[in-house]
Amino acid sequence: MRVTIIGAGIVGASIAYHLAQHGVSVVLLENDRPGGGTSGATFACLNIFGHRSDSFFDLRLRSIRYLDTLAAEIDAVEFVHKPGTLRWGESDGDWTRLHSETKRLEDRGLPCEYHSAAQVRAELEPALDLSRLDNDVIRVPEEGWLDAPPFIGKLLAAARAVGDVETRDAKAIDLDFSGPAVKVVTTSGTIDSDRLVLAAGIDSIAMCERVGHAFPIERHPGVMRVSAPSATPLHHVVYASDMHLRPDGAGRIMAGLGDAHRAGPTPTQSQASQEALRIEELGDRWLPGFRATPAEAIRVGIRTIWPDDLPVVGWLPNASNAYIAVYHSGITLAPLLGQLCAREIAGDAAGQGLDSYRPDRFDQDVPSVA
Ligand SMILES: Cc1cc2nc3c(=O)[nH]c(=O)nc-3n(C[C@H](O)[C@H](O)[C@H](O)COP(=O)(O)OP(=O)(O)OC[C@H]3O[C@@H](n4cnc5c(N)ncnc54)[C@H](O)[C@@H]3O)c2cc1C
Repeated sequence: MRVTIIGAGIVGASIAYHLAQHGVSVVLLENDRPGGGTSGATFACLNIFGHRSDSFFDLRLRSIRYLDTLAAEIDAVEFVHKPGTLRWGESDGDWTRLHSETKRLEDRGLPCEYHSAAQVRAELEPALDLSRLDNDVIRVPEEGWLDAPPFIGKLLAAARAVGDVETRDAKAIDLDFSGPAVKVVTTSGTIDSDRLVLAAGIDSIAMCERVGHAFPIERHPGVMRVSAPSATPLHHVVYASDMHLRPDGAGRIMAGLGDAHRAGPTPTQSQASQEALRIEELGDRWLPGFRATPAEAIRVGIRTIWPDDLPVVGWLPNASNAYIAVYHSGITLAPLLGQLCAREIAGDAAGQGLDSYRPDRFDQDVPSVA
């Protein structure tokens, strides 16, 4: 079987690697560089906390645990970091919410720890200023972060070593999957294959519209400030009440504003720089000296948010040869979802537990223009 995948972010790369394990021939199209889309502009936290449905929580936890197996298989253990996350609520209301969520996760088998602010400073993160906190800090030891771009590189190298996988530097510009074979017109010729996978992040949605499927997805932009190497040490992913921070290699610190993101246009460079100043201001409150280390990069990424906040994976309605995989939290979910999706695409689909994530829950036919 021959499959064309559009998009070499974390989602497409994971599907490609797992398809190669099924003996499927893969052409992976990428018009930037692998990991050059949202997967290279993300906070990339391996994150289980704060998700409402129990089955979605289980999927995230299984994916984070499977990541260790996958990383060992593809020689990428050095890019997976699981020192744990630290979270706190500054107000009593925030703390009550955090505490009840922690209890729920503990009840479902996720170990969590409670530390006083003094303990955190003495034993975990001496550089943090937690003097304003009256409540405990929650540590989730199984969470952490992924160095996504090099991990994607390793996935692709392993995919090529396992099977017949070609990464092609080309843009998909038109699709036709009305016949038995799928045709993808690209900037370097037309590719025929048995099946197509749309893993082009937000761009997958415009491609679907061209072939008659409209989806109510929202684009939520986010700005990440990455500092130059700094002498201020940070070891964990930190979710303060208003922002988040984490180490990003060689003393760099990556930071963004709190999780209340919303739909909107991609910020201009000057808007992104303004947001980076706000990140510096808030970051300096928790990590004194943060602002003094200059920004090395300010990255803008687009979150793909479905109305129910869950992933979309599966065959497009009325198509048995075109599969879509577009979701937020891809860093956390793509390791396991890549394996489960590849099984379906390769034709070995039994008992996947993916029924809640099908595209037909949102698909609306695009009326044809006479
Ligand atoms: C600010 C921010 C913070 C985030 N934080 C987290 C987090 O803490 N934890 C977490 O798990 N997730 C997080 N996410 C979400 C996560 O980063 C994404 O879900 C994930 O990166 C999506 O991967 P993808 O492969 O679907 O998309 P992408 O990485 O965007 O990959 C799609 C690829 O398709 C290519 N492409 C597009 N169109 C075409 C075409 N026509 N032809 C060929 N190639 C094409 C693009 O160049 C791109 O490389 C965050 C996202 C943002 C923006």
